[in-house]
Amino acid sequence: MLACTYIEKGKFQLVEKPKPVLQNDRDAIVRVTLGSICTSDLHIKHGSVPKAVPGITVGHEMVGVVEAVGAAVASVKPGDRVTVNVETFCGQCFFCKNGWVNNCTDENGGWALGCRIDGGQAEYVRVPYADQGLNKIPDSVTDEQALFVGDVLATGYWAAQISEIRNSDTVLVIGAGPTGICTLQCVRLMEPKRIIVCDKDEQRLQFVRKNYPEVLTVGPENVLEFVKEHSCHNGADAVLEVAGGKDTFKMAWECARPNAVVTVVALYEEAQALPLPEMYGKNLIFKTGGVDGCRCDEILRLIESGKIDTTPLITHTYPLRQIEEAYRIFENKLDGVIKIAITADEGE
Ligand SMILES: [Zn+2]
Ligand SMILES: [Zn+2]
Repeated sequence: MLACTYIEKGKFQLVEKPKPVLQNDRDAIVRVTLGSICTSDLHIKHGSVPKAVPGITVGHEMVGVVEAVGAAVASVKPGDRVTVNVETFCGQCFFCKNGWVNNCTDENGGWALGCRIDGGQAEYVRVPYADQGLNKIPDSVTDEQALFVGDVLATGYWAAQISEIRNSDTVLVIGAGPTGICTLQCVRLMEPKRIIVCDKDEQRLQFVRKNYPEVLTVGPENVLEFVKEHSCHNGADAVLEVAGGKDTFKMAWECARPNAVVTVVALYEEAQALPLPEMYGKNLIFKTGGVDGCRCDEILRLIESGKIDTTPLITHTYPLRQIEEAYRIFENKLDGVIKIAITADEGE
């Protein structure tokens, strides 16, 4: 089968590999029907994910159809349409039992798919702990609607859930990329008084205004004054930092009001300063990523009921055999790209 493979720093290539097989009685094999490319894939390509193993198939955003399951798998069976969770977790260790699945102590716990074990930018993928890692897609939900459930949408949902958002709040979301938009959608579900989105890219802000007209948008230049002006207590009540830019962590805590929750979802490529003397007395509460992505069934129900719709994020579609071209478009942010759907080659 075809598999987009991490060859070495700076190089991914589509290569022919054997179809994966069950290795454990809790595994499932999934035929990938739709996948996507994530910014984290680019982090692997650029060598900034030390755990990533050269030779692995990349890709951790996908939906598909179950082909085969191990003897111990109970929640899915061959033929089921499923979302695949970015995180692998055993469901039994201390961290899993507390819902902190990102820190599952299993050797493959956390982000393994498409990083430490073969992922889903391929025709088939082996998913360990299938009862934890797969969720059945409701019949009325399409592959496109479900595509982001296991990764960027799980991240946005988790971020909104932990940010202690109240109806009277002004919420600032920093970053309007794919994860930022997913976060925004999940923040909207919590019905805060006001939402402000900050991004340096005017095209992204336009996308926000078009799809979510009640949301206020602002560029980074005057974000601090803007947030103070549009909030009731001299700053945002909750800040969700999803950008991971050079100055966006500083922006996040500066725009927060005293006693606010600052949720850091972003994955930074460089260390960030936490200047405690400067923020002394502000009494901020920091919560930091990565996602505990174990609430995919709730997210699927929200999609089914029409409360979440991430399909406008899909701006481009390429078949798997043209994934290298899709990477070129995504990596260079060409042609107004937000997210690219990768279809199975079948029948072409
Ligand atoms: Zn991702
Ligand atoms: Zn675990």
